[in-house]
Amino acid sequence: MRALHTLSRRLVALADACLPATCIVCAGDEPAGICAACENDLPGSHARRCIRCGLLVDAPGERGANAERSASNRHEASLDCSACVAAPPACARTIVLADYAAPLDRVVHALKFGRDASIARPLGSLLAHRADETIDSLPARLQSTLVVTAVPLATRRLAARGFNQSLEIARAFARARSLPLEHRLLARRRDSAPSSTLHAHERRAALHGAFDAPQRLDGRVVIVVDDVMTTGATLEAAADALLRAGAASVINCVVARTPDR
Ligand SMILES: [Zn+2]
Ligand SMILES: [Zn+2]
Repeated sequence: MRALHTLSRRLVALADACLPATCIVCAGDEPAGICAACENDLPGSHARRCIRCGLLVDAPGERGANAERSASNRHEASLDCSACVAAPPACARTIVLADYAAPLDRVVHALKFGRDASIARPLGSLLAHRADETIDSLPARLQSTLVVTAVPLATRRLAARGFNQSLEIARAFARARSLPLEHRLLARRRDSAPSSTLHAHERRAALHGAFDAPQRLDGRVVIVVDDVMTTGATLEAAADALLRAGAASVINCVVARTPDR
């Protein structure tokens, strides 16, 4: 399986190498879409995060419940923050590429509002690479059930923007890992998304039951891709719906995580 992924990634890299491309951050020549220096400098990309909610666990004022024993290893698998220990979220994991801060915020903005879907490709493949360890550590019987989906946009937003940026990122993610992409696993029950200015608990209440998962997902592990995770309420509502439809577990994969406010 791993050899197949490596081969597939090489073929994708080869195909991408045939196209002239620039780094999505510094605009320098870069066939892969993001140069090594910019990738390395993404904000918070080397930080230790809670494996459940993706927040930094060593930010001021936040000490992860298990942070002490894993201080020497940022890949420690049992690193839950105190909030997730007290009230575990519906998802099993949240994998984050970087913080929603400069220059990644500008890149995400260009993807969404500049309507440049080509930006999604390097973001999706970087995110897939970030998820390698989690996916590869799943038992083989679960790896064979993996499916990738994206948080759907509200119909009006989709009509205005012309594309769902999260779906474009999910497409690149699925391609990089040779996983199936199913873009209709989630459906919004209501067409209006609650204001992003609401507090986390108000947003969670407003989004409760916001999604349907129309297909049965018995025993499948679902990877939900989103561009930006702020309070986590949208992804929590999505994971709830997927688990209600029988998913074995849900792994959130997000490009940018808003640092704790
Ligand atoms: Zn660059
Ligand atoms: Zn957490």
